[in-house]
Amino acid sequence: MIQLAENKLNEYFGYSSFRKGQEEIIDNVLNGNDTLAIMPTGGGKSICYQIPALLMDGITIVISPLISLMKDQVDALTSVGISSTYINSSLSATELNERLTAVRAGVYKIIYIAPERLDSQVFHSFLLSMNVSMVAVDEAHCISQWGHDFRPSYRRIKELIYEFEQKPLVMALTATATREVTSDICQLLNISELNTFVTGFARENLTFNVIKGENKRDYITKYIKANPDQAGIIYASTRKEVDELYQYLKKSGLKVGKYHAGLSEQERSDQQDQFLFDRLDVMVATNAFGMGINKSNVRYVIHHNLPKNIEAYYQEAGRAGRDGEKSECIILFAGHDIQLQKFLIEQTTLSHDKKMHEYQKLQQMVDLCHTEKCIQSYIVEYFGENSPDSDCGKCINCRDTRSKIDVTTDALMVFSCIKRMNERFGKTLVAQVLKGSKNKRITQMGFEKLSTYSLMKHKTEKQIVDFIDFLIAEGYLSLTNAQYPVLELSNKARQVIVEKQQIYKKEQMIIQAIEANDTLF
Ligand code: ADP
Repeated sequence: MIQLAENKLNEYFGYSSFRKGQEEIIDNVLNGNDTLAIMPTGGGKSICYQIPALLMDGITIVISPLISLMKDQVDALTSVGISSTYINSSLSATELNERLTAVRAGVYKIIYIAPERLDSQVFHSFLLSMNVSMVAVDEAHCISQWGHDFRPSYRRIKELIYEFEQKPLVMALTATATREVTSDICQLLNISELNTFVTGFARENLTFNVIKGENKRDYITKYIKANPDQAGIIYASTRKEVDELYQYLKKSGLKVGKYHAGLSEQERSDQQDQFLFDRLDVMVATNAFGMGINKSNVRYVIHHNLPKNIEAYYQEAGRAGRDGEKSECIILFAGHDIQLQKFLIEQTTLSHDKKMHEYQKLQQMVDLCHTEKCIQSYIVEYFGENSPDSDCGKCINCRDTRSKIDVTTDALMVFSCIKRMNERFGKTLVAQVLKGSKNKRITQMGFEKLSTYSLMKHKTEKQIVDFIDFLIAEGYLSLTNAQYPVLELSNKARQVIVEKQQIYKKEQMIIQAIEANDTLF
């Protein structure tokens, strides 16, 4: 079967072989299994349903929320000789009728529809009268309330599937699904977790860097000047920040554009075109820029502010290097950006539970900035794919050649202090106690009497906070109540205490002499 599929790949698309992951997914579908494919943007999801569609008797319905992309997809398929069409709100009544007549006449093999079409009973019945072999649910995370783009109409898909006389095969595809979104998709579409494939998240041509403590504007200006005539995107969190950064860079004589939802539609499409056609080097934008933009030669993506979570980050950063050429992704990290993101979460109308969830995801993003592991591996593991065989060798952490030193003693001081403060406080207060601060809150709480008080007095408070961030990122400490985070020891920390496991860190910490670790507990 897979050989037949590869022949089709060759015949229609001119590619010699499937990419990693595509083959397994297509094989699973052709064996008659409802399948969930989780692949990064640019990973080649479309082929995963387009090739099986060609090998099946009936029609494949593709449900996609990206109306602006449907036409491109259909044009691309038509250009290689695959008959397809789309049905969405952009069509006039006459066009719609013509298309439905052609569908009925069996002209099309693949039909793209917007999810909202399923809300129409007439259309629903129309589909049921067709010979549908497969329903492919693109951007499948839209079915989950936990996803970042919930579409209520997606919930109708399951009803539809089970109303057909013969149930069509179901394929769900997405680029961004956390474990809970994955299990939601499986449950809501009745796909077995065994038929879930998470694949190809590593983007080998991208280099990931997290830069701390730099003047962001200077850094960006220098970076753009050092990479003349290269296309780049700079993401900032708010419209105001986009406006200000844009002004600043423009005054510095750089060819920049800007894009955010506060601009008129005309301005936005004008800026976007200029960037797409290389008349602007750099686009300064909020996250409103990007959905559906397929500019392949973006050489760098800089995050001026911390993104709200790893999914958003990877999707935005992933707009670099779609052509497979080497490209760079840089996060300019500043601690106060965490507050900005928290503020933005607070401003939303989300329920309490969803807000807590967003705080948690923000923390995972912060952890990514503090880890010393390979960033690419960290991201791939976050998405539930097994860690690659080897680290990327290119990211800032892989390139960091400082030798690792044993920081177990320092870590035990931190753990002990947190324990003695009954695991009820955040990192600032813990750091102040370890520093031996005379802050009023500390004396009020009587913390100056703790045996861990001033144990780390030779370090600055910032060094202690940074070290705590490292322990969080590496999973030794966890944060409960993500809104006002409280530090707790995790099982991993307990292993260090009980089983005397050691912790290594790259940075040089000034290790204080203390008699024996055991006395701390
Ligand atoms: P996604 O939908 O996952 O973002 P696409 O389906 O648009 O990605 O594919 C991204 C690019 O990769 C497209 O240009 C596509 O033609 C190309 N592509 C997909 N599969 C293969 C393959 N097996 N070999 C070579 N190129 C491929």
